[in-house]
Amino acid sequence: MYIKPPHVVGYERPYTVTIQRPEGLKEGPEDERIRTIDFKEDYVFGQFEGEAFPPVQPDKDGNFDYLDVQGEFDFLNPEHRKFAACQMYATVRRVLDIFTKYNNNEKFELYFEKNNKLHIFPLVYFVNEGEIFDNAFSGYGRDKTLGNIEYLAFGFPFFLFPRKEDKVGAVKYPFCLNFDVLAHEMGHTITRTLAPFPPSGDSTSNTYYGGLQESMGDLVAFVSNMHFDEFIDNLLLETKGNICTLNSLTATGDMPHGKSIRLALNSFTLREVTKEVHDLSQPFTGALVDVFLLVYLLYAVQEGAIDQDLANKSFENRFRPQSVGGLGRLWGVVVADKEKENKLRQCLHHARDYLGQLLLQFWKIMKKKSEVNEETGKYELRMNYSYIYEWILLADKEVSQGNNDKIIMLCFERRLFQRLDKFNFTTLPQGKKVYIKLQKKEE
Ligand SMILES: [Zn+2]
Repeated sequence: MYIKPPHVVGYERPYTVTIQRPEGLKEGPEDERIRTIDFKEDYVFGQFEGEAFPPVQPDKDGNFDYLDVQGEFDFLNPEHRKFAACQMYATVRRVLDIFTKYNNNEKFELYFEKNNKLHIFPLVYFVNEGEIFDNAFSGYGRDKTLGNIEYLAFGFPFFLFPRKEDKVGAVKYPFCLNFDVLAHEMGHTITRTLAPFPPSGDSTSNTYYGGLQESMGDLVAFVSNMHFDEFIDNLLLETKGNICTLNSLTATGDMPHGKSIRLALNSFTLREVTKEVHDLSQPFTGALVDVFLLVYLLYAVQEGAIDQDLANKSFENRFRPQSVGGLGRLWGVVVADKEKENKLRQCLHHARDYLGQLLLQFWKIMKKKSEVNEETGKYELRMNYSYIYEWILLADKEVSQGNNDKIIMLCFERRLFQRLDKFNFTTLPQGKKVYIKLQKKEE
């Protein structure tokens, strides 16, 4: 699989990943929870039937790594289609495994999984009778034969090729080869599973739920990216350890021509965005990425990889080009020391696992805060931005026993209430190690 789409420099070649399923992998690929179907032509939402390509076959040892993509992706080439199906399966499986690990390896059932598997459709060209599908979608619906199912349907970025004669260019960049986009949609599926929908008539709750869903999608991709050693190595090479910059981690969803769908590192406050869900997601994503950066820097200071002054300056200048104040040069000196570079790698793992566990606990808290609707018997969740802030603090209590509450307050109050206090590492309790709850069982 590709860990960034193949047009991104440094990620042109696919990597072999190992996915261990005790029950083995079936043709498809398919396992006990996920089933891949590569539909041939038209695909109609909510009707999961139609002609499909034969399921991809594993080799005699049960592996799929004999597949490869040579040259430009060609969705008419049967071998490329098979690879794309495996890429989609492997990414979805990986993201589910990562967040199951953050749940102390306890399986959480997806929204509709009780009835059926998560179905994934890698290369959908047309939907609803000949309409081009220029999107990637996490949904659930009722199928005549399968019953209620969860699904992910992936198309092509036609919107990036507005001229009709250029549309053919879009098919070289299918969303299903894009790890960030896949992980984002899987983030929707997991969030929907754990955080119940708001009551239908409650517009405030629905608005914030929508914004939060988009933010969670981007952050699931953000955390999942860092589970590849190759990605962390490239990131350290690219940034010299100063992650507080625009880089391959903080810009999500690489598109052709160097574009990205959204910037996880952003300075938006709630007042500066509209109520459109993707727009509204940005202050929440920005706040949680700031929390991640501070946890990373704080740990790097505690481990002796960098000093407080460099940490303060890097965080303060995070929305500016890397060269400001000679920061790039200072970080260059740090990573030239192999021991310090290794410490930074550990700090990245640490901050990644903190954010991953924070998200998982946050979803669980949302589940706890929901209430049963007397009429429908379904759980419903009411929310606004201050509830979200309160629940993130509660999640931190679960993960770090509240040790990071100062960091969260600073990052969220900036975004929600325009409190633009400067952060200074010297204001944190000195000598106090950030505590991260350890996994009971390691995979
Ligand atoms: Zn989304």
